[in-house]
Amino acid sequence: MVTYFFLNNLVVNLDAAGTVWHVNQAAYAPTEVTRGYASLDNIAEPEIRSIRHFLPDKAGVRKARRTLHAKAISIAAVFATGYYLAVIGNRHPLLHLAGIVLIAHACVAAATGIMHDANHSAFSKNKGLNKAAAVVADALGASSWMWRFQHNLTHHRHTNVQTLDDDIEQMPFLRLSDHQETRWYFRYQHIYAWFLYCFLTVKWLFVGDFGKLASKTITYDGVTREVRTSTVVGVVGGKLAHASWALAIPLLLHSWYIVIASYLAIAFFVSFSLSVVFQLAHCVEEAQMLPSDTEHGGAHTLNHQLKTTVNIESGNKVAGWYMGWMYGGLDNQIEHHLAPRFPHTCYKDMSNNVRKYCQETGLKYLTHKSLTQGVLSHYRHLRTMALGVSASA
Ligand SMILES: [Zn+2]
Repeated sequence: MVTYFFLNNLVVNLDAAGTVWHVNQAAYAPTEVTRGYASLDNIAEPEIRSIRHFLPDKAGVRKARRTLHAKAISIAAVFATGYYLAVIGNRHPLLHLAGIVLIAHACVAAATGIMHDANHSAFSKNKGLNKAAAVVADALGASSWMWRFQHNLTHHRHTNVQTLDDDIEQMPFLRLSDHQETRWYFRYQHIYAWFLYCFLTVKWLFVGDFGKLASKTITYDGVTREVRTSTVVGVVGGKLAHASWALAIPLLLHSWYIVIASYLAIAFFVSFSLSVVFQLAHCVEEAQMLPSDTEHGGAHTLNHQLKTTVNIESGNKVAGWYMGWMYGGLDNQIEHHLAPRFPHTCYKDMSNNVRKYCQETGLKYLTHKSLTQGVLSHYRHLRTMALGVSASA
């Protein structure tokens, strides 16, 4: 049974699986994309009370959506220009190179600024538009079905909670938290991690999703989803769509070695950018890694997210504009973790309220003063974890 009640300017949607909050029913009702996933972004009533004064009003949300949609058009235009230059149009090497740079930037911006919002149902209140935007993940090589399940369920619900947050479980490659066992080669992880980060999209395309599809069911955080034939068709279809635009069409027009080199250059840039920006929010010195029995849901959510999530400030206006366009909201991860169903284009305004609240209550509002500071902090975190005590000791 689904019931709605008003809490000041909020409409709260209570369902059998828990509580989902919305600014208004029309804008935040569960969409086609989130059918069956309505509980993934659940926030319980005490959490609504603790964060509601940070949230934008209806007019603020409408304005943020308009900005987000304009940004999506600009990303599509950058991608189309890049694709024309690198694949379809003039074959001059410099224009080809310019095209590669544009495609790489557009892919990062599409992942952070369209795909991420859409898979949280934050891109649009229109079901069809949100669904279309969500499959940008598939076009980039990652299953949107799997992303919603894994990212929304484990990472957002259990940020930096050992054994529950999938994002910090990168064994046997990296030791990101001190509950994980040590291995001799982790002493070099602060050096080789940056190389591994270049393979994120290749892993999406060939390894992670197919490995999970081999099971009949997938379970995350106590929620089980059946892997049906339609699921397999959707995931494989997404991979084929990616291979079509990124490899098949270019191979019809260019030499194979040009296509492979261009594909890998874009894949490495996109992978490195996404991996690093995600790591800077949670796997850094400032953020806490917490044991699995830590109270972190319900009324503890606000405090928990403030302990485990770090924002990134830009050094100047130009860098700020570039980071905002490229990393869409991932530089405001605190606000994203407090309000994942809101478009990322409202996080900057929202951050003023959260920061003020932290000042008034004495809570820490964690930020890297620049991208460089964040990178150095992640480097030091990797080194500290490498030297840590074995969890089994
Ligand atoms: Zn998210």
